[in-house]
Amino acid sequence: MTFMKPSVTAPADGRTDPAEPVENSAGQPRTADGFLLPVPDEDGAPFWAYAARGELRVQACADCGELRFPPRPCCPHCQSFASEWRRMSGRGRIWSYVRPHPPLLPAYAALAPYHAIVVELAEAPRIRLVGNLVSSPDAALNSVPPERVRIGAAVKVAFHAVADGVTVPRWLLERP
Ligand SMILES: [Zn+2]
Repeated sequence: MTFMKPSVTAPADGRTDPAEPVENSAGQPRTADGFLLPVPDEDGAPFWAYAARGELRVQACADCGELRFPPRPCCPHCQSFASEWRRMSGRGRIWSYVRPHPPLLPAYAALAPYHAIVVELAEAPRIRLVGNLVSSPDAALNSVPPERVRIGAAVKVAFHAVADGVTVPRWLLERP
């Protein structure tokens, strides 16, 4: 599982190079080896652009300063439309996790069970990001043994290039 925004729209990029991400019949882009790719929308595009630079940034209101996620045009606290992207430390804790088992998409089934975790950010405990827990930035999805995973464990962000121009945040245990 890659990090996915809950509400997405399909890209209209017309890519045909087989080395580029491809779409399946349901319109969901995947890597050549079958892993799902994020589909940024207009509000979320900066999140992925910063991730490609190795930065974890969260949208914040430019008027009242409240952080918000997922990205959206208007501040839910003061209704301002002014926003900025604030860099996070990349530290957090496991708030929850799942250990998926088949039936799964084939690329994921081959690696199951693995860990998809919900991370509570150190700077903003109410903001929680979904991602994979792995042993190093480019390690396999199942690289962390189940006995190492527990609620509350400290994690830090890492960045993994899944396809040309597409980088996803992943999470590493602070104390592997
Ligand atoms: Zn605000």
